[in-house]
Amino acid sequence: MFSVKWQNGILVTSESASIILDPLKKTPNYDFAFVSHAHMDHTVAFTDPVKIKYSTRETTALYEAVSDRKPRNVVPCLYGKSIPVHDFQLKAVNSGHVFGSAALLLDGDGVTFFYTGDFNFTDSLTQRAISPCDCDVLAIETTYGRPDFVFPNREEVYDSIVQWAATTIMEGHVPCFFVYPVGKAQEITRLFNLYTSIPVVTHPSITKTNRTVNSFGGDLVFYDMAKEGEELLRSKNCVCLFPTSLNLKTVKLVHPDAKVAMVTGWGLRFGKRAADATFVLSSHADYAQLLRFVEECGPKKVYTVHGYAGLFANKLKRMGFDAEPLEH
Ligand SMILES: [Zn+2]
Repeated sequence: MFSVKWQNGILVTSESASIILDPLKKTPNYDFAFVSHAHMDHTVAFTDPVKIKYSTRETTALYEAVSDRKPRNVVPCLYGKSIPVHDFQLKAVNSGHVFGSAALLLDGDGVTFFYTGDFNFTDSLTQRAISPCDCDVLAIETTYGRPDFVFPNREEVYDSIVQWAATTIMEGHVPCFFVYPVGKAQEITRLFNLYTSIPVVTHPSITKTNRTVNSFGGDLVFYDMAKEGEELLRSKNCVCLFPTSLNLKTVKLVHPDAKVAMVTGWGLRFGKRAADATFVLSSHADYAQLLRFVEECGPKKVYTVHGYAGLFANKLKRMGFDAEPLEH
């Protein structure tokens, strides 16, 4: 009997096997796991040395770059290629979120189940948007599942970022962007590579992830701040990328010429905070995109997870869907 429930992650069970999707904590009761992408809140399954994990090669490589750990027993998934696992057919498809990210199509017990993982429903400079998929059961992330999360036009945000950086350099400061090393770092690097001649200097943690992307055929151009980027940083004719894990005020103390910018969808909610600028650029779908995505998948049953899962499930119910949040 096919079932979906929350058990520190999404646990999908069929007649003969169970698969856990992106568990947040270690959890013993499953046969194998799926890791959708390399953001740390989704990679806990990689820390289990024994159980079989399914993930893309790109995600596994990024995890190794970020954590300095090599996960064991990982079966690589190729986008669009089905893998038989017990009585399931498992297929990873592009989710549009970050490099290597995958949604999961799972066929088992005559049910087509689709798990989005974190996803984006619009093209970016580095990722293609996710494609909707006809399914019986949809498990969808609802990080921005509230009506006031309406993201601005991406091209206009790109334009504002470049304008701000150019002005900041002209004023004698170094434009510094605080970004996730996986995802936004590649998008901002590519933005400046494509549309400007301003060199991109990277914190070592971002140097590692950018290099990993290039090892799969990427063409990102950047300079590590501890090596060749040091001179560029001194010249102040560059942009600089720092990981969001660093403290913004500390960076300003170390680099007094820095002007700092946040680049995140959450900018809609928190404004500038301690930053000099905030740009609303997200790797997730916004509210309208989430709704459109569900409609285009046409599922009989929807499970919502993360963020505004309850609120979004209620909205879907009012639209006539059988929807419920998966409890954390
Ligand atoms: Zn993510």
